[in-house]
Amino acid sequence: MKEKILTGIKPTGSLQLGNYIAVLKNLKALQDRGECYIFIADLHALTLPIEPEVLRQNSIDIAAFYLACGLDPDKSTLFLQSSVSAHAEANAIFQNYLYMGELSRMTQFKDKSAKMKESAIGLGLFAYPVLMAGDIVLYDADIVPVGDDQKQHVELTRDLVNRFNNRYGEVLKMPKPEINKVGKRIMSLSDPTVKMSKSDPKGDIFLKDDLKVIRKKIMSAVTDLGCEVKYDPENKPGISNLLVIYASMKDISIEEAEAHFVGKRYGEFKGEVADAVCDVIGKLQERYQHIIETKAYEEALKKGAIKANKVASETLKRIKKAVGLLTLE
Ligand code: ATP
Ligand code: MG
Repeated sequence: MKEKILTGIKPTGSLQLGNYIAVLKNLKALQDRGECYIFIADLHALTLPIEPEVLRQNSIDIAAFYLACGLDPDKSTLFLQSSVSAHAEANAIFQNYLYMGELSRMTQFKDKSAKMKESAIGLGLFAYPVLMAGDIVLYDADIVPVGDDQKQHVELTRDLVNRFNNRYGEVLKMPKPEINKVGKRIMSLSDPTVKMSKSDPKGDIFLKDDLKVIRKKIMSAVTDLGCEVKYDPENKPGISNLLVIYASMKDISIEEAEAHFVGKRYGEFKGEVADAVCDVIGKLQERYQHIIETKAYEEALKKGAIKANKVASETLKRIKKAVGLLTLE
């Protein structure tokens, strides 16, 4: 049996380099390894205020970038979360099996809500991991590739699966988060103590940035005192972040990246990081542009929705039966 792999990105903003490294870059390898369900978490994007037109455009962009990274709609299932109503139904059921205490301990909720007025914090932002648990279990996912920041949510899904299966028997498949060795958390270039984030951009590299802009952002990235290019996240967070980015673009280890820059100055180092990023992103942008022009994402999303609905509705039936909801055939 092939492994089932599920991963998604929410269309809250323009895709940034961290999204590329966590998800997009690995798509081809994942697709060769298992049965992939790759989605656009558009319902999740509604957890923060967003203009309808922006949400639509961001969703198209994510689909186009997935395809530009080599996602083959004949091999993988590419879909919009909102095209599969089982996600909302699973959410309605699972919200009774995750608890207020555990949801309020989620770092993402704490980080995102801290920047908002209490009266503006929606229930959806609080209950985000409930919807996400449904996303994962509906496809019997074994593996969930994510960045470091989403690990806690996948762990909560594991708690839910344990709780649910203890109560009802082996109904849900136990998923496992999978995190890149290199690049599990890409930090902002202007403040290397915070992660790059598309909904709160601070010194981010966007996949749609002009290459000249990318180069400028890298050349003016915050670095540290001293002049040695060394991986030391605690004392040299800026340099370490750039080293991780370089290693990730070149598909090499941090040690190999460090060895490459021995004796080189910061300026030269940054120039090579910029070359590496522009090389990868430049090629990606060309493919993205072609997909946008041909609207190839439309057919892919329609086809994916049919397959995803079929799989998710079968699992949903299993879940409904388990809890005692009548499933009349
Ligand atoms: P938002 O600000 O809306 O939360 P985001 O940039 O964090 O946006 P998500 O849609 O939340 O993106 O996450 C998509 C995937 O990208 C997840 O697997 C997440 O862990 C990963 N990811 C996001 N930011 C980074 C980052 N800075 N470094 C590595 N992975 C990241
Ligand atoms: Mg995020």
